[in-house]
Amino acid sequence: LLHKDRQYVWHPFTQMKDYENQDHLLIEKAEGIHLYGADGRTYMDTVSSWWVNVHGHGHPRIKQAIQEQMERMDHVMFSGLTHEPAIVLAEKLVERTPEGLTRVFYSDNGSTAVEVALKMSYQYWQHQGHKTKHKFIYLQGSYHGDTLGAVSVGGVDLYHAIFKPLLFSAYQAPSPAISGMEQSLEAIEDLMKRHQSEIAGIVIEPLIQAAGGMHIYGADFLTRLRALCNTYEIHLIADEVATGFGRTGKMFACEYAGMTPDLICLSKGLTAGVMPLSATLCTEEIYQSFYDDYETLKTFFHGHSFTGNPLACAVGIESLNIFEDDNLLGHVQEVSAYMQQQFRRFADLEHVDHIRGLGMVAALNLVKDKDRQEAYDPVKRAGYQIYKQGLEEGLILRPLGDTIYYWLPLCTTKEQVDTIIARTSSVIEKVTAKL
Ligand code: PMP
Repeated sequence: LLHKDRQYVWHPFTQMKDYENQDHLLIEKAEGIHLYGADGRTYMDTVSSWWVNVHGHGHPRIKQAIQEQMERMDHVMFSGLTHEPAIVLAEKLVERTPEGLTRVFYSDNGSTAVEVALKMSYQYWQHQGHKTKHKFIYLQGSYHGDTLGAVSVGGVDLYHAIFKPLLFSAYQAPSPAISGMEQSLEAIEDLMKRHQSEIAGIVIEPLIQAAGGMHIYGADFLTRLRALCNTYEIHLIADEVATGFGRTGKMFACEYAGMTPDLICLSKGLTAGVMPLSATLCTEEIYQSFYDDYETLKTFFHGHSFTGNPLACAVGIESLNIFEDDNLLGHVQEVSAYMQQQFRRFADLEHVDHIRGLGMVAALNLVKDKDRQEAYDPVKRAGYQIYKQGLEEGLILRPLGDTIYYWLPLCTTKEQVDTIIARTSSVIEKVTAKL
């Protein structure tokens, strides 16, 4: 299999040279927080399989939900037809997301959830007669996906610079987590003031700018951003693709500020990380602007083949039921408090700096010299060394550059936290000793 993997398969975010030297890890089974390799070894999935897995792999209730739905119906198109799983999930999402978001539009992944939000916002302003409102503000260090629209509002040059000629133009503002809240809000207000007639919306990752380096900021920013968006009549688009469904300790990160965005983008944990599905929710005002009197064609021009897939929706419903039945957020409160406290112990290590975290997410930076704030030479590829050493110690770690982070499944226990921390400690010490 590995031979054929090399021969036929193109994996994302993989440097081909690494692949020449080392095969991908072949996984045969996944259960709870564990992945089982074809090499006979067991690995702890500290990143929830790209931040999607919520209840651990192979949860019995999720398995049953998918099997039962498969018995009834696999997939039907979602235009002109509808079905119970999509309706029930939509109702639950409207009930569970911040109050004021009333309509659910399904698509297939996080990037398209963001594309949908951008297009809805743009069309809304068109309907209102604001024909010039077609620009968006995004934050430095933000990541909203890999489709061209999502890349256009992406703030990580390393990922996006190469595609610049293909992108639409947008305004970048400083990040509250990187440049400080006041500087960020000042720059955002300045952009809104100067370009009000052009700007449709601002898109942000609430509280954790994840793929851009696990930059974390406070809830005050969200409250004040909401106020600015109200003043300048600009949509606030909250991309909760990564932060949604309990990761931060609350169901949605926006709840920390008691704030309702105009549009919210959900995916990853929406189906507990088992099926591809996403949802973009909007306010009634945005939805009603698409009302079509047949004199003007206001339809929302967007729709994917697999939109509202019944299996995925059935899993989404069961996942939300598990949250309620198992008081999962209560478990997260307890385990995350413990995890954040234990994680702080890394501060004692010589090459560890900038420890931060929220809920089941925690991150630290590896540095060559803490006092002088000197980073490792990028050619040393510290993050890649950590990934490799992690495997040796039975851990799946996927550092972003020199940032090591956890994005733990919500079902993680305190004992598992202890094991993960002990093993990571050993990984860091071994790797930094050699760098
Ligand atoms: N938005 C955020 C905040 C994300 O973290 C991601 C994925 N890492 C995306 C959008 C894109 O999601 P997907 O990979 O499912 O397209």
